[in-house]
Amino acid sequence: MSAPKLTLKSGREKSLLRRHPWIFSGAVERLEGDPQPGDTVEVYAADGRWLARAAYSPRSQIRARVWTFAEDELVTPEFLRSRFARALAARQSSVFSLQSSANHQLSAARLVNAESDFLPGLIVDRYADWLVCQFLSTGAEKWKREVVAVLDELVPNAGIYERSDVDVRAKEGLPPVTGVLSGAPPPELVEIEEHGCRFLVDVQRGHKTGFYLDQRDNRALLAGYASGREVLNAFAYTGGFGVLALKGGAAHVINLDSSTAALELAQRNFELSGFDGRRATHHIGDAFAVLRQYRDAGRQFDLIVLDPPKFAESQSQVERAARGYKDINLLAFKLLRPGGLLFTFSCSGVIDSALFQKIVADAAVDAGREAQILRRLAQSADHPVALSFPEGEYLKGLVCLVE
Ligand code: SAH
Repeated sequence: MSAPKLTLKSGREKSLLRRHPWIFSGAVERLEGDPQPGDTVEVYAADGRWLARAAYSPRSQIRARVWTFAEDELVTPEFLRSRFARALAARQSSVFSLQSSANHQLSAARLVNAESDFLPGLIVDRYADWLVCQFLSTGAEKWKREVVAVLDELVPNAGIYERSDVDVRAKEGLPPVTGVLSGAPPPELVEIEEHGCRFLVDVQRGHKTGFYLDQRDNRALLAGYASGREVLNAFAYTGGFGVLALKGGAAHVINLDSSTAALELAQRNFELSGFDGRRATHHIGDAFAVLRQYRDAGRQFDLIVLDPPKFAESQSQVERAARGYKDINLLAFKLLRPGGLLFTFSCSGVIDSALFQKIVADAAVDAGREAQILRRLAQSADHPVALSFPEGEYLKGLVCLVE
């Protein structure tokens, strides 16, 4: 039986020739054969030219995701093995070693970053001895068993755990799934090290795969600016930026978050690193409301971190999200003492860095504060962005100095 064949509409091969891995449903002229979800299809241009081999996803707007653009490369367990080996090799080379953590054991990192590591739909994060995976597309799902076998072969581990409890799976017609894929179940909390600080990570129930690994470099940077400062860490999660602020000599840190569970863990993370409890406060509440309360009470800070969740999932939500970003940034500008620093982030992929900068600039104007950008921040180096896949760039941040 010949392989299923997907032919594109005329002109719609352009993005593939630039090696973008997504084929949208609207680009498909016809499908021959009867591929099941996740099956490999041969992709052809309208003029009959072979283009790629891709994983088929009948329910998704992204109808197929390219595994390979090389005609002689078949999608097999060996193929997966070589892609994983490439991702791991990149992380072992010196380019990935992280500035301030270079002297420390890096026990938590992203090993595979999906499309940007040429493995569409696949995320693998390491937390000490445990690997945590997300299978986000039908293609990734189909090869789950082989992926687990390859990981067991290439990365020494105590256990592999699945955290495919994410909304994007619904778009692929896949149910949410969590559980042990191989080896031992992870403990309630896994202890990791980052920049010489220790953190407890709830890989079974925490956000994403348990920790915001993408902010690692930015947390280290913050430590260098924190000395003697009164810090407000808004949207704190388990206190990552707060711990690094104290390590950098901050006078005091408030961790603000709406999640009680996250702040309980933040408290434990502060204790684990041995900081004097009087240097930290935990405030449970809605940041939009609490920042207003602080403003009304005349509270002032020397350094504020704003690291909110994704406000916009799609283009249609950009306007509302922009209002949300502007609101919290405006409040933050009002709460900063002269000479204060704002570390402000957006992880909404649909809000690009130019728009984000404009939102922050508007907030400063409305707050009546003059500010300068000292640095532009992005996701850590273990979350690379393939040049052919600009969608992989989602985290952006600014460090602003306020007059
Ligand atoms: N800076 C953190 C990650 C922040 S993730 C780190 O480096 O680990 C975003 C956090 O915002 C989550 O912990 C979530 O609980 C919290 N959050 C979401 N909406 C909120 C709101 N309205 N007010 C306060 N916290 C909120």
